[in-house]
This record gives sequence, structure tokens and C-alpha cells, in this order.
Amino acid sequence: MVERRLTGMIAAAAVLIVLFIFWDVFRPVARAVDSSAPAPTTLAVDSIARPIAPPTPPPAAPQPVAPATTASQGTAGPTVPAGRQPTYFDLLARSETRRRIRLTGTSTYLGEMLAASDDSMLRRWDNRQQSPVRVWFASTNAANFKPAFLEQIRAAFGQWANAGVPIRFDFVTDSTQAEVTVKWRIQFEIERTGQTDVTWDDQGHIQSAVVTLATFDPKGRPMEPDDIRVVAMHEVGHVLGLDHSKDSTDIMFPTAKVRELSDRDVRTVRLLYELTPGSVR
Ligand SMILES: [Zn+2]
Repeated sequence: MVERRLTGMIAAAAVLIVLFIFWDVFRPVARAVDSSAPAPTTLAVDSIARPIAPPTPPPAAPQPVAPATTASQGTAGPTVPAGRQPTYFDLLARSETRRRIRLTGTSTYLGEMLAASDDSMLRRWDNRQQSPVRVWFASTNAANFKPAFLEQIRAAFGQWANAGVPIRFDFVTDSTQAEVTVKWRIQFEIERTGQTDVTWDDQGHIQSAVVTLATFDPKGRPMEPDDIRVVAMHEVGHVLGLDHSKDSTDIMFPTAKVRELSDRDVRTVRLLYELTPGSVR
């Protein structure tokens, strides 16, 4: 009897050892994080072409108009504090995050967003209901700029803030307080009417964003206030951490065809803000 129990224990120990070895062989390996470069990562997301006048030209190559900071993009590895391997519990949490995203199927585009990304990272602001994200409008002399544009942009921020995310926005007049800057240019050289550059830390916490809007579309036609609202809706989606959807009925389609948030836009941003930011791999 004792012998049989002993044999059982030895067998169990052997199974554990085998499991342990397999775990060690197959666990995901974190890319080295360049600890000498803790600078936040910046990505210039491309943006929408003006949502009128079909046929819409193909989306421009997602090459930013080159803020130098994009060069740092490659240095951010998975979201572990510099040099630390993700723990078993980190990996378990990430696997749970992936499961939750999978469960939503096609009712959100968070899964396709991650699949298209090269770092499998969720990026978002922390909960900012108590201390709203501070938005500042840069002044401009750009031709065709209309003060009415600002009201449309505020409306765009408001629509996302009302989509059920724990984020509020405050419009400040002091540029030194700005976390999100909205600035202007007359036109982009490429097929785009807006651009958003987002900065985040190595754990996916968004820290700042710059939204650039054009007062003329790429064909040289002046933007109207409601066009500005639509472009701003798309750009604020980027500010919140969303990337592009492949479905043209979403405002986050690269060349937006719709002029309001879709249910999928709302579900996607809500899910994003329920999940822990950072790498899901
Ligand atoms: Zn975009």
C-alpha cells in the first residue's frame, strides 16, 4: 500500500517536471527592452481622407509626415518594466485579456487592431473621470480656418466621452497644461485631412497626443465645419487608443465613409477601457 502510494507520488512528480520543462521551452519570450531608452514611444497614425466625394482614393501609405520621434518606436518591447521578464501571472492575465477580446468576435475590432499591430499592445489613457484629459487648441492663421471648427471638434470629443468610457475632456487655454494638442495646417501633401500622433509609456499608458487637422482637403477644397467634425471624430478615436477598423461602417475605417460613431466603434472603445493596457502577448 505504502509502495503504491510512493509510486503514485513519483509519477506525479515526474508529470510536474515534464510540465515544468515544457513550460520553460514554450513560454513566450519577451523581447529585450532597451532600458537605456525609456523614452515614450510615439506613433503617427495615418488618417482619414475627407469623407465626401466618392470615389475615395485608396488610403495613403501609413507613413507619418515624419515626426522624428517615430524612430523610437522599435525600442519598446512588451510591457514589462525594463529588463523584467513577464511573470507567470502577467502571462495568465494576458491570456485572459486575449480570451475576452476573442469572445467579442466581430462585435468589436479590437482583435483585428491587435492582429494588424506589430507590438500586440493595448494603449489607452488611465481612468480620467476625476481629472479630465486636458485639451488645448493651438491658435492659427491657416487660410480657411473658421472659429466654428472649434465647436465641431469639442462636439467630437464629447461624443467619444459619452460613449461609455471613463474619460472626460477639459478644454484648457494654457498650452503648458496640454496633454492633447489640436493644431492646424492648410493641407497635407498626401491623401489625408488629419493626423494623430500618440505617445505612450512601455506599459501602454497613453501620455499625450497631437491632432493635426487640415483646413483644405487634398484636392484643395475648403473644409466645412461638419467635415471637420467627422475628421475630428476619427482622430479622437486615435487619441483614445483605437486603430483602424476594416469595416467602412465604422468611423475608424481609414477613409471614413460614415459621419457618426457606429455601435462597433462604441463597443470597441468600451472594451479597450475595460482591459489592462500593455502587451497581450
Ligand atoms: Zn486614422
